[in-house]
Amino acid sequence: MNLHEYQGKDILANFGVRIQRGVVAKNAQEAVAAAKQLTAETGTSWHVIKAQVHAGGRGKGGGVKIAKNLQEVETIAGQIIGMNLVTPQTSAEGKKVHQVLIAEDVYYPGETETSEFYVSVLLNRASGRNMIMYSTEGGMDIETVAEETPHLIFTEEVDPSVGLMPFQARRIAFNLGLDGLAFKEMTKFVTSLYTAYVASDASLFEINPVLKTSDNKIMAVDAKVTIDDNALYRHKDYQDLRDLREENPIEVEAGALGLNYVDLDGNVGCMVNGAGLAMATMDLIKQAGGEPANFLDVGGTADAARVEAAFKIILKDPNVKAILINIFGGIVRCDRVAQGVIDAYKNMGNITVPIIVRLQGTNADIAKELIDSSGLDVMSATEFQEAADKVQQVLENK
Ligand code: GDP
Ligand code: MN
Repeated sequence: MNLHEYQGKDILANFGVRIQRGVVAKNAQEAVAAAKQLTAETGTSWHVIKAQVHAGGRGKGGGVKIAKNLQEVETIAGQIIGMNLVTPQTSAEGKKVHQVLIAEDVYYPGETETSEFYVSVLLNRASGRNMIMYSTEGGMDIETVAEETPHLIFTEEVDPSVGLMPFQARRIAFNLGLDGLAFKEMTKFVTSLYTAYVASDASLFEINPVLKTSDNKIMAVDAKVTIDDNALYRHKDYQDLRDLREENPIEVEAGALGLNYVDLDGNVGCMVNGAGLAMATMDLIKQAGGEPANFLDVGGTADAARVEAAFKIILKDPNVKAILINIFGGIVRCDRVAQGVIDAYKNMGNITVPIIVRLQGTNADIAKELIDSSGLDVMSATEFQEAADKVQQVLENK
């Protein structure tokens, strides 16, 4: 689950990480009230208006703007809320902005004493450990830094049995070229950041930029946070943070039906039971020259109702030109799945894409009989390869 910047910053603040303070607003009036509140609390006279969408690069797309007075807060907030923000990380249509964060301005005009760093905590899948990735080149695209000046990116791996050690926090502050108060502040910053990451069961905390202010305070100006979905049951209070408007609508609908569905770019819809078989099926489609339109694990109980729900989800994607059903009948018998497919097909009545069904396992032969004698535009296959080849054939005949 991805969070908005303001939600990520709230979590950081709860763990004692210094943040650029802000108040979220849904319209221009709320924005003005938020700005007044911030001025009262922090003394700031300028404000930053920041679009809250699940995408980075907002600054480049015109989603982060400075307001020098309340009139500008109102005008700019009015412009940003409701706009379709296009950034290097969104699609060409962009993302609709529903709310903005009104934040205190923490950069002072003509300021030369501030610097921007990059600090993130993430899982290194290769080593199976959390790591802190950091750079002196903050405020810009970290991918560009990685490409052009990779020596300016440092990493610090954390041993899970002891956590982040004080000497590691000091090494980070040292490598960032800090001394005095800023050095101490940075060690505190990364230590609290790491604690926040572990305690919230996150898989990413990316702070870009981390700002060193003119009075040597270290603070988070931005926050990109991903919480591990599999750990959400441990964080009931985070469930409200989910913003379904930011997610793929078909995936949201599939999730509500208990289907494990991920939308992809290809044209072969897949209906499979078990994540491993689903991955293998996608590989096979690709090897046969096709492109999967989705990942879909229907789970262990592939009865008619579930098969029908899965059909509906797959067919919502207009790119789907063929559907491959690949189900192993272990717990659920193949003939029951076959009957489920036939019933769902008849129930829906409007399926026009060809369907290839491969059922293996208990009663596979009876299942094949059922499919072959159903009179529907459904082809059966016994072998994995045969199924993938048939998919290619129907695509080429179209
Ligand atoms: P992103 O573009 O989506 O990564 O959004 P950020 O939150 O990182 O903001 C983009 C840029 O806006 C930052 O890199 C900063 O340079 C700038 N910015 C953020 N807060 C302030 C602020 O308080 N004052 C000024 N002058 N610039 C800011
Ligand atoms: Mn940023």
